[in-house]
Amino acid sequence: MTKRILLVEDEPGLVMTLKDRLSKEGYAVESANDGPSGYKRATTESFDLLILDVMLPHSSGLDVCRDLRQAGIKVPVLMLTAKSQLVDKVVGLKIGADDYLTKPFEMMELLARVEALLRRVSQRTPAAKEGSFEFGPNRVDFRSTAVFRDGRPIDLSAREFKLLRYFIEHRGATVSRDELLNAVWGYEAMPFTRTVDVHVAWLRQKLEPNPRHPQFILTVHGLGYRFVDS
Ligand code: CA
Repeated sequence: MTKRILLVEDEPGLVMTLKDRLSKEGYAVESANDGPSGYKRATTESFDLLILDVMLPHSSGLDVCRDLRQAGIKVPVLMLTAKSQLVDKVVGLKIGADDYLTKPFEMMELLARVEALLRRVSQRTPAAKEGSFEFGPNRVDFRSTAVFRDGRPIDLSAREFKLLRYFIEHRGATVSRDELLNAVWGYEAMPFTRTVDVHVAWLRQKLEPNPRHPQFILTVHGLGYRFVDS
């Protein structure tokens, strides 16, 4: 699957160069040119990686990173700092950035960091086909596509399992109903976003200790849903 990268940077030249090069490497690259719009995209769409410049208009990359972590967004963040901003590196790592790179940098160096971060994350995320994932009293076994609650098997339809797997793979990110329809149902199958709500309600009935006050599959008003596991 194509990895999606969000580049938050305000220097048009650098945006163009990076977009061009990263696309050639097979990544899908989106960009935002200030702090608030970067934050908005990172919280409303799902990305595999953020490249975040520290010096941005309106709010700094450090603010954006901190706010994302506070919102439970766990997407890996590669910070770009200027040479004079040594202190930013330390602060950046403290507030949840995964790595940093000092400007000016060699393109090969950036590509290596991006690749390393994506690899690290794919090891951290349970590969959906092997491994299992636990949240609260629930355990999902991806290999046998079985789900257990307090050790007892629960009945999930194939669609519910697919939806749950999508949530787990994108945990921490807000996913829209349209995105879920596309990923879980396919583009043409179901024109009604209400379908998503119905299936989410079923999943909550089966997996949430208190379905009326969900703690795992959260509603993000006006945007969609977000799965959190802590
Ligand atoms: Ca900048």
